[in-house]
Order: sequence, then structure tokens, then C-alpha cells
Amino acid sequence: AADRLEELLAGLNEPQRDAVTHGDGPLLILAGAGSGKTRVLTHRLAWLVHSGRASHQEVLAITFTNKAAQEMRNRVELLLGRRTRGMWVMTFHAACARMLRAEAPRLGYTRQFTIYDQADARRLTKRCLEELNVDTKRFTPAAVHNQISDAKNKLRSADDVRELVGSRFEEIVGDVYDAYEREMLRMNAMDFDDLLVRAVNVLELFDEVRERYQQTFRYVLVDEYQDTNHAQYKWLQLLAGEHRNLAVVGDDAQSVYSFRGADIRNILDFQDDFPDAAVVKLEQNYRSTQTILDAANAVIRNNRGQIAKDLWTEVGQGDPIRVRELDDERSEARFVVGEVQRLIDEGVSRQEIAVFYRTNAQSRVIEDVLVQRDIGYQVVGGTKFYERAEIKDALAYLTLLGNPQDVVAFTRVANTPRRGIGQTSMSRVTAFATAMDMSVWDAAANPAAVPSLGAAAIKAFSRFMGTMEGLRERAAQGVPVGDLLEAVLHETGYVDALEAERTFEAQGRLENLTELVNTAREFDASADPGEDTLDVFLQQVALVADADTREDEGLVTLMTLHNAKGLEYEIVFITGFEDGVFPHSRALDEGALEEERRLCYVGITRAKRDLTLSYARQRMVFGSQQYGLRSRFLDEIPFELTDREQTDVVRQPGARVSWAASRADAPPPEAVDFRIGQDVAHAAFGEGVVTGIEPGGIVVIRFARDGSERKLMAEYAPITRR
Ligand code: ATP
Ligand code: MG
Repeated sequence: AADRLEELLAGLNEPQRDAVTHGDGPLLILAGAGSGKTRVLTHRLAWLVHSGRASHQEVLAITFTNKAAQEMRNRVELLLGRRTRGMWVMTFHAACARMLRAEAPRLGYTRQFTIYDQADARRLTKRCLEELNVDTKRFTPAAVHNQISDAKNKLRSADDVRELVGSRFEEIVGDVYDAYEREMLRMNAMDFDDLLVRAVNVLELFDEVRERYQQTFRYVLVDEYQDTNHAQYKWLQLLAGEHRNLAVVGDDAQSVYSFRGADIRNILDFQDDFPDAAVVKLEQNYRSTQTILDAANAVIRNNRGQIAKDLWTEVGQGDPIRVRELDDERSEARFVVGEVQRLIDEGVSRQEIAVFYRTNAQSRVIEDVLVQRDIGYQVVGGTKFYERAEIKDALAYLTLLGNPQDVVAFTRVANTPRRGIGQTSMSRVTAFATAMDMSVWDAAANPAAVPSLGAAAIKAFSRFMGTMEGLRERAAQGVPVGDLLEAVLHETGYVDALEAERTFEAQGRLENLTELVNTAREFDASADPGEDTLDVFLQQVALVADADTREDEGLVTLMTLHNAKGLEYEIVFITGFEDGVFPHSRALDEGALEEERRLCYVGITRAKRDLTLSYARQRMVFGSQQYGLRSRFLDEIPFELTDREQTDVVRQPGARVSWAASRADAPPPEAVDFRIGQDVAHAAFGEGVVTGIEPGGIVVIRFARDGSERKLMAEYAPITRR
């Protein structure tokens, strides 16, 4: 046992060890990227269990992604040298969902409540908007749902929102929020935000529940604390406020989710919340080369509101950061994939390589070239798999078996595949269920009682519900999810219908379903005994579908910069370093720009030894050609840390000139030879007028032909003065 304790502490430096062996009371670790914060949390969890301070089920550890949770669980088992089932190492959402599986009945839900993903939530928002006769073109479901989500993250109820109405939009948001909440409760469903809000509600409203969980979780550990929102903060306070054994780690320079309600003040004010908190600083970085760290430090230094933390490493200087300029997004993709190919040929394994970008849409060109070259890759976070219709159908069947009240699941599957249940009959059944305050399942199971339902429809419902009752019995007996799913797919005629199609597409759908059965079987193999397996499976799928995909060894990884947080790769490419792309065009004002810069810091610090940054001179954005200006973030990286190459087509087509030379030649921003109001002509866009001049040699021109306003680089764009 002493040996194991030795081992547990061996791979740690002194401040890390202090943090791991910190006894009771609040603990704050505020430190830069790659300094071992996550490692400290993992070791601390193992240490708490090993030293007998808590059993492995008495520690709540919150990670940012499901993948990080899995890694932490594996590490803890390794450190403890045994399997540990039922550990609460998971994301906020998963932990709240697990808590609510037990406690939801107190709030009027059943334990089998459904979790709605983003698409479901938007669909319901749309329905509420339509019922309130709101023009959904002017007030889009996405925009309204964002506001509802924002309010929930701040723990503001529909009534709170309604009290502060200032505009027509806010009024609509308040009304829809109210209707949405009532619908969700009626359908026994929660969206992602609800998981947190309801978990807070149940702890606040029921003293005995709160006390029980406070006793259960004797220690609470939280990773990436800088990205917690108010609801998460409140939930943690309720759980740990009494015993105060709360350890949080984070980095203010990596706070990148304010658009989702994350509040950086949570970490900055931790010492106000807990004046006696032990504070540990970590400065040695174990991940990256000194060059990479210097670049990251230099970029983040341009933010005003950042706590200074200089990172150092013993790894050594390493190679310079490669900066490459390309003609357009296609040549950028070809360049990146060409480099990936070269690395693979040199023996680098695919899973050591990652390509990041600012927005999801940027992945497609890169994917195209990867497919052409036959290089295996995965897109993390862009999970297409769970969005496919057949997968959603299959999951809706399972959902309905668990939660007979789920009208959305019911209407999705009742006539899929076609079995003679029309739209009208379906509405009659759901309306009847609402009127009689019964579940849609019970209404459909006794169709003869539903007014004005035709004989054919009654027969169709009876046959369908006969099948479903049989399946539900097996679900209730707790048969493995894989078996249940297979039974669903065959007995409901789903597979037969696809096979009858005899198309490639149907073949693909069948393959996807087979993959889903595999997923369920994997789940069955690792499920905790005694848990309600179907619910847990659906919950897991709902949460995974939202965030990270399943791991696959031996694949190149593509993901957005946001998804890259907390991860590390030997070799990193970051593409699209253009003003307007990264920093994002919507984020060019002061506060938002600092968040973009933090995202840049996150991206750079993912790389262990090899980092390449690229940008394109022109790029199709939303179907129109835009001329990019290289990102200001690139210019914040000291020249001597980089190896820069660019093609200057204006002066010497195809010739490579050094960055320094071209920079010296470039006219300073003030020297741009345009005036606002001046008439100009562009070789491609035709005639226009200058409407603005921006720093960095950009002119803004409104074109007569289509009224579009475009930002162009004065130096490169083919513009003539008139
Ligand atoms: P981020 O801010 O990006 O989340 P972090 O602070 O959580 O980073 P970790 O991911 O825990 O950092 O650690 C970065 C890398 O350094 C990991 O590969 C980790 O295993 C390694 N590492 C951390 N501490 C040590 C140490 N004392 N000895 C050896 N390796 C270490
Ligand atoms: Mg970390």
C-alpha cells in the first residue's frame, strides 16, 4: 500500500504534490496550459480514495467532456490498481442527469424522462412560436431558443424574464419560454439546460435531498472551472457549501465559452467565496516546446484582463512554428493534407495529428481532400452519426419504450416505417391524450376509445401497439439494450422496410443501425449492474451525441478549437488564420476579441512539439468570395519564433518571398490610398463606392450590382479608382 502511495506521488512536482495531498477545505489551482492541472485532479481523486478519506463513490469529479471523464476513470483505476465501478467522474450534464434519474419524481417528472438534444429543443421552440402566431422568419426558433437557454444558464425563470421585458423580441422570448416549459413537463422531457436547472431546483427545494448528496459527495473536484456558468456554480455551491471540500482547477486564459453563459468571474472570485482557500500555482509546463509556449504567452499578453502566468518547460526550444500562406481554402486543405501524408509516411501515427479550425463549416474542404487521399480521419464534436434519420428513429423507439409519455418520440415512430397511421389519426390520438390527461401510449393502446378514429386507423394502431407492448414487457424485464434494439428493429418492420428499398442509401442506413447495435452491445458489456440500463444508455447517447464522438485509434482528428480544450497532440495544424475567420467576424469588438484570443491560446497550447498555422488569401464564406487579411493573432507571435513563407502573387507570381520583406513593403494602414465616398471598380464585383477604411489596409466597399458590402485588402484586391 505504501508502495502505491509512493507511485501515486512519484510523477509529480512539488506544488502538484501539495495540491494532490491537500487535506480538507477549499482548494484553488489557477495555472496555465499543460501545467498538469488535470493530472493533479486525477491523482488527487486516487489519493483521496487510497488514503481512506473517501470511498471511490464518495468523490464527485467533474470533467469538461465525456472523453476526459473516461480518461480520468481509466487513470484512477490504473493508479489504484483495481476496477472501480459507479464512480461519479463525469460531465456536469451527465452528473445532473444521473442525480435526476433518482430525484426527478419530486419535480413532477418520472424517472424515465427523455433528454432532448439541441435539434429537438429547437423543434419544440418552433412549435411554441407557431402556436403563439409569431412569424418564425423574423424571430427564428434558433434565436429564441438561444435566449431561453441563456436565461436557464443564469437560473432565470420564465417569470423572471417576463418581468424585465424591454422589446418585442424579449416579450416573445418570455412567452415562448413559458409555453416551452409547460410542454416539456407535459412530455416528461428535459433539454440540456434543464438538467442543470432541475438539479439545482431539487437541491434547493428539498433539504433532505441536499443533505443526502452533501454527505454522499464528501469531496468535489472540478476541472476547467473557468468555463462554468451560473447554474453550474450554484449546483456546486449547494453540494459543497457545507463541508467546503471543493477543489477547482482552471486557467482564466482558457475561458472560451462565455457565449454559452460561462462566467469567468466564478474562478476569479473563488477566493472571495472561500477566503481560506489554499491556492496552488503551477508554472512548469510538461506538454510543449519552449517555442510553442513563448508564442502562446506572447499572444495572450495582448489581452488586458488576463492574470499574468509565464510558463516554462524543460523540454527545450524545439522547432519554429510554421506559418504558411495559401491562395484559397482549397490549396490550404491540400497543403495541410499533404503535410499530414508526409508525416504518416515518416512513421508518425495518425492519432498524434490534429487539425483545428474556428467554425465547423471549415472542415468540409479538408475532409474532401482527406477522403481523396484515403486518409482515415474523425471529426470530433461534429457528430453526424447520431443525427442520421435512422439512428434517431431507432433511438426514438427505445425512448418511447422507456417513457410512454414522450409525444415527440411517439409521433416520430408511429408511422415509421409506414403502417397506415396517417397524420390526422395521429393528431386525434395525441389530442385525445392531452384532453384526457393520459399518456399518448395509453391513448394509442385503446384506439377504439378515441373519438372519430376510422376503422382502418383503429386496426393500424392496435397492431402497432401490440408489437410495442411486447417490446415494452421485455424492456421492463431489463433485457440487454443490444437485444432490445435488435428486437425493435426487426419486430417493428424497420429492417424489412429498408431491405425492401434495395438502394445503396438503404444499405448505408442498415450499416449505421448495425453500428448502433454494436454501440449498445459495448454499453451492455460495461454497464453497472443494477442500473436501469435502457435509461442510462439513452442518457449516454444523448450526451455523447451532443459533444464528443467515440474514440477511434489510428485516425487523424479534426475539430473546432472549442472542442480541443484540455486535449493534446504531438502535431497540430490550425487553419483559417484570417481576420474575419479567426478572430471571427462577429467578434471584432473589444470584449469578444479577447475571448477569440484566448481561443488562440488554447489552440496553440494543444501542440506538443510541432505546430503549423495557415491562412488563405481568399476564401468562400457563405457562398461569396472574400479576400482575407492574415489574422492579427499571427502578427502577435514574435517573428523569430516562426518559419514564415508566403506566395506574393501581386508582384512575382508564384515566387516565394520572405515574410519580413513583404511586411516591410506593405503600406502602413494610414497610407491606404482611398477615401470614404470614392467611386471604385473591382475586376469581379463591378462598380462600387468606398464606405469605410479599416486598420490593416482594408477598404470596405459597397457594390452597386447586388448591394453587398465587402471588406477587401486595398493592396491586393483588383480595384481601380474612378
Ligand atoms: P490544460 O490547461 O491544457 O487543460 P493541464 O494543466 O490540465 O492542461 P495536463 O493535461 O494535466 O495539463 O498535463 C499536460 C501534460 O503534461 C500531460 O501529458 C501530463 O501527463 C503531463 N504532466 C503533467 N505533470 C507532469 C509531471 N509532473 N511529470 C511528467 N508529466 C507531467
Ligand atoms: Mg486540463
